[in-house]
Amino acid sequence: MKKFLNIFLDLIYKRRCYFCKKSFENLIMCSKCYDSLYFNRPQARIIFNGVNIFCAGIYEKTMQKLIRGIKYHKKKDLAFYQAKFMYEYFKKLNLNKNYQVVPVPLYSKRQKERGYNHMELVAEEFCKLSGMTLNTNIIKRIKNTKPQYKLNKQERLKNLKNAFSIEKSNINSDLDILIIDDIFTTGSTFESMIDEFHKKNVYNITCLAAASAN
Ligand SMILES: [Zn+2]
Repeated sequence: MKKFLNIFLDLIYKRRCYFCKKSFENLIMCSKCYDSLYFNRPQARIIFNGVNIFCAGIYEKTMQKLIRGIKYHKKKDLAFYQAKFMYEYFKKLNLNKNYQVVPVPLYSKRQKERGYNHMELVAEEFCKLSGMTLNTNIIKRIKNTKPQYKLNKQERLKNLKNAFSIEKSNINSDLDILIIDDIFTTGSTFESMIDEFHKKNVYNITCLAAASAN
């Protein structure tokens, strides 16, 4: 009954854009708002121990609302738009390799509280768009790390020490690994994961964040 009521309400009140609240395209993100997202240049933001780390956009205005909407406000439909943006950027890199996509994992308790891993939703959409394989069985977060935003780089690295555990047998050895995350700040999350992979002699890794904090 509730479902029918929602369809009925949707018909009367066409879905407004979550960003500008103006568009009548009946999309949660209208084309104008999507097109306002700024793409970074297609080159590595940093190279950490031989691994390229890319950032598709900048964490400001619409991008900030997009990421926060998925992460904190349960706007799961927005995952498609974040994935689309990341994939459009990724295509410009012309990397010509076959990947398994690995979303940065959440600690199990935090995932339970949130009800989902937002990056897993983005990774699912990214794989639908790209035809790549999703692999959520390689890496786990085994430590309940503190939120990073108040910490400096040294504190972040300490916080993330031994935070991840890798199950090497779950890696598809025919495919490279593409780790995806939402915000790149100091790079310590990617660096900590890369270190863990290198400890297991896994080197065919690329990292992609939706946006860099600056
Ligand atoms: Zn809009």
